[in-house]
Amino acid sequence: MEIHWGKRVQAYVTPISQDEVCVVTIGETVGESQFETALLEMPMLRERLSGASLSSRERGAVSSTRRLNRVQQSNLALVGDASGGVDAITGEGLRLAFCQAPVLADAMIAGDLSKYERAHRRIARRPMLMGNLMLFLSRHARLRARTIRAMQRQPKLFERLLAAHVGQASCANLLTTGALLGLRLASPQGALIT
Ligand SMILES: Cc1cc2nc3c(=O)[nH]c(=O)nc-3n(C[C@H](O)[C@H](O)[C@H](O)COP(=O)(O)OP(=O)(O)OC[C@H]3O[C@@H](n4cnc5c(N)ncnc54)[C@H](O)[C@@H]3O)c2cc1C
Repeated sequence: MEIHWGKRVQAYVTPISQDEVCVVTIGETVGESQFETALLEMPMLRERLSGASLSSRERGAVSSTRRLNRVQQSNLALVGDASGGVDAITGEGLRLAFCQAPVLADAMIAGDLSKYERAHRRIARRPMLMGNLMLFLSRHARLRARTIRAMQRQPKLFERLLAAHVGQASCANLLTTGALLGLRLASPQGALIT
């Protein structure tokens, strides 16, 4: 897949068949995220899509980060987006629901939904952190450009951040990677990642 990050919008392009791609554009306002408007910020993507025909109508949805005080009470539990969630920029919504489902089942078997409450908080922690980080970068163009350049120069840094994002790295690793990224941003020569 491809990800394009404009000044105010992002787009991601996913192949869905041999000759068809799905293009999603995300922005802070409805106007910004509309397909044609968003493409104005991404000339490379616009060029690549020129001549392609639309196979469906444009659809939209609201995405936000929401944390609820409680996700269970008595014999009721919330899962998926209904239980809060992370911004679509993370691409994590479905995975969160898939992670919540088995722990909810375990809590139901144990007859103790508070176990689910605790696990839910733990499952949400890392995606929330990464989501906030990405939203922060989306609002600070210069820092975003520097971060992307740092990752271009040191693909290992990108690999480590990606591993942290998909939960394949420990919290300690995430902290080290954050510190290395900080060093890299502070000094173009600093922090060689191996
Ligand atoms: C633009 C965008 C891009 C995204 N990209 C990604 C991505 O790349 N990867 C990813 O993992 N996630 C992504 N997500 C998030 C993902 O779509 C959601 O996390 C996921 O759909 C949540 O599933 P859900 O079943 O909890 O809720 P939903 O998919 O919202 O399902 C809830 C269903 O309940 C129905 N409903 C609501 N109220 C009632 C009612 N009273 N009676 C009956 N039915 C009702 C709704 O119509 C809906 O069909 C994205 C979201 C957006 C908005």
